[in-house]
Amino acid sequence: MNAPLVKFPDFLPGSVWIAGAGPGDPTLLTLGVHNGLQMADVIVYDALVDQRILDLAACGAVLEYAGKRGGRPSTDQADISQKLVALARNKKRVLRLKGGDPMVFGRGPQECEALINADIPFRILPGITAGVGGLAYAGIPVTSRDTNAAVTFLTGHTASGNIPDDVDWESLSKGASTLVVYMGSKHLRHIRDRLLDAGRPANEPVAIISKATTNNQRTVTSTLETCAESLAENELQAPMIIVIGPTVEYHEAFSWFSP
Ligand code: SAH
Repeated sequence: MNAPLVKFPDFLPGSVWIAGAGPGDPTLLTLGVHNGLQMADVIVYDALVDQRILDLAACGAVLEYAGKRGGRPSTDQADISQKLVALARNKKRVLRLKGGDPMVFGRGPQECEALINADIPFRILPGITAGVGGLAYAGIPVTSRDTNAAVTFLTGHTASGNIPDDVDWESLSKGASTLVVYMGSKHLRHIRDRLLDAGRPANEPVAIISKATTNNQRTVTSTLETCAESLAENELQAPMIIVIGPTVEYHEAFSWFSP
């Protein structure tokens, strides 16, 4: 018999894999996460994980929902971490499955800390983050030689639901020309105002990509000045990723995905 082409790590009972499910389309799962789905005894999953991905779990696996609603205070994060610890202590193979990448605005670090404190072995399995995969499905390059040499990933609200106050909008504005905003819909007016105050041009292109990589993906383009109105008028639904900067100009020509 031929040796297997891919050697997967052993998923040991009593350990936790903190994994990223990607932005939605199941074909964006990594082989490692797919393997984790088939090996896990328990899958503790987030609100943004697509049902078609959960359907890939082994038949005997227990699925536990541990989602949080965007913008609400994350009072139950400690409970989720404790759940992971308790399951691992019960000698389960625990897959903690999050949307996108677990370490990009995903509270993966807090769960790692809880596991370290409890002496539970863990592994981190990256996933395709919405700010990269979602842009690809909207035909928007994250970087392009002709437009931007840097990119900034930004969250539109903090764990307490407020616009981040530790962001230096002035320097952020002068930094990378492309800004990719996660969780930005609620505070889009504030974000726009702060960027305009800090000197970003009012006619700068903006794309809002709703439900990226799913069958309900929609992309709407506007300008920095009109983006908040455009979001409301088009009745775009969460989750949404917002892209600000010249790389948005590629969208029209590069749009390839028709859900
Ligand atoms: N860890 C995730 C991000 C979690 S924060 C990742 O790496 O993608 C949640 C935010 O991610 C949402 O508010 C939205 O801004 C973005 N997001 C996640 N999935 C998305 C999708 N399919 N389409 C558009 N935005 C998405």
